[in-house]
This record gives sequence, C-alpha cells and structure tokens, in this order.
Amino acid sequence: MTGDLDRLRSMLAEARRVVVFTGAGISTESGIPDFRSPGGIWSRTTPIMFDDFVTSIEARRESWRRRIEIERDMVDARPNPGHAAVAHLVATGKVSALITQNIDGLHQASGVPDEKVIELHGNGTYAACLACGERHALDPILKAFHADGTIPQCRACGGIVKTATISFGQPMPVEAMDRARAAALSCDLFLAIGSSLVVWPAASFPLLAKQNGAALVILNREATDHDPSADLVLHREIGPTLSTVVAPP
Ligand code: NAD
Repeated sequence: MTGDLDRLRSMLAEARRVVVFTGAGISTESGIPDFRSPGGIWSRTTPIMFDDFVTSIEARRESWRRRIEIERDMVDARPNPGHAAVAHLVATGKVSALITQNIDGLHQASGVPDEKVIELHGNGTYAACLACGERHALDPILKAFHADGTIPQCRACGGIVKTATISFGQPMPVEAMDRARAAALSCDLFLAIGSSLVVWPAASFPLLAKQNGAALVILNREATDHDPSADLVLHREIGPTLSTVVAPP
C-alpha cells in the first residue's frame, strides 16, 4: 500500500510554496518523548502554568527539577531521518517556512537555516530573563540547581529566569505568530508532521492554510481531529515515510 506515498511525492513535486509544520512526533525517533503518546510527558506530569512559575518559588523549583530530568534526552538527541528529510526539502528551495511547536532545536541542528524556522513555543536549549530578556546559557543554571538547588536570577536585572519556552498560560510570541500566519496564508501545500494538533493556537495554522486554498497533508502515527479537513492523511511513522518520499540525492 504505497499509493499514499506516491500521492505525497506528486503533491510535493507540484507545489510551489510549501509550509512544513512539525510537532513533538518528529523528535521521538531522536529519543525525546512527545506529550501525548503512551509513556509521553503528559501521562507522567501535569504542566506548570506560567502564572504559577512567576508567582511561586515552589513552582519554579519544580520546573527546574523537571528540566534537569529531561536534560539527558535533550543533550543526547541528534536529528533523525525525519529531520534530515525536512532539511532536504528546505534545501530544494520550495519551503517558505518551517513552523515548529518543538523546543529542541533539532531542525536547526539538521541544517535548516535559522531564518526559515518559526518557533511557536520558543526554545528549551537556553534560558532568558522574563523581565529584560537577557539570554542565559542553560548549562551553568542546571549545574548550580543540581548542586544546591539554586534558582537562577538574571545577572543583568535580578529578574526571574526561565527556559526560553512558551509555557501553558504564557502569551504567544507575537512575531512568530505573525510570521506563521503569513506563511500559512501564502502557501499552496501545508504539511503537518508529528502533531496531535490539539494545542491551540498552533493547531489553527493547518486549518487557516486549508481555508485559504492550500492543500493540507497530515503525517502522524494516529488520527487527529484535523484529518477530515486534510487532502491526504498518512498514518505512518515519520522517519521511514519522509526518507522514502523525500530522498536526498
Ligand atoms: P503531541 O505529543 O501532542 O503529539 C505528537 C503526535 O506525534 C502524537 O499524535 C503521536 O502519535 C505522534 N507521533 C509520535 N511519534 C511519532 C512517529 N515516530 N511517527 C509518527 N507519529 C508519531 O505533540 P504536539 O502536537 O507537538 O504538542 C505537544 C506540545 O509539547 C508542543 O507544544 C511542544 O511544544 C511540546 N513538546 C515538545 C517536544 C520537543 O521539542 N521535542 C517534546 C514534547 C513536547
């Protein structure tokens, strides 16, 4: 049954402006658990809301404890064949934007230029001050927390330091949202990969593109609520599928 793969191949060949949209599913083959698969992060913890992080030192402590817990997965993670196939697609010049919900930096590590990547939920590989925006390297923060539980403060203004991710309840980054909206409205093919498409407003972009006339393709192991809106749905594994369809020369 390879009809769906052939169809994706020809849709990619015909498309002139492709938007690739990725979720945590593209990074599971790199060893980073997703949120909603069995055993995923969601089944083990409840998210810490942004307001709690800001107002409660206990919530901050718990947040940094969790960050240390996932550090080994994050540090060891390398781009997998799914990331490589997406990078190859970008290198062909057809991809106008790569919108990602991921915070792991693996698209950039796979060779996709920074300016092509729109990070809707920020980046978990560094930290930033919530007050002044000063960027902080993560390694010394994690080492100090691990050593004696030190909760980081901004070296520039004394403000609260947090990984540069967007937490539940935190305002979405305005520039990234604007760029993602513009990309969704100007593409002719929108390819959603490895997302359960339940986190909003990120999940609105595939529908926006479709409503504006783009073809919508969803590649995800399990069904999503957006499947009925899609022109093509592939319930397949991401790495093997993309490396078959988008084969580097
Ligand atoms: P999600 O966990 O809600 O959905 C992931 C989807 O990918 C699931 O439907 C799962 O069935 C599918 N999937 C997993 N591995 C797959 C594979 N190898 N092949 C095919 N399908 C596969 O993820 P989401 O929609 O991105 O939402 C989760 C939120 O959590 C995002 O906002 C993201 O910021 C964050 N998150 C990020 C990471 C990361 O950066 N790698 C990891 C976990 C969570």
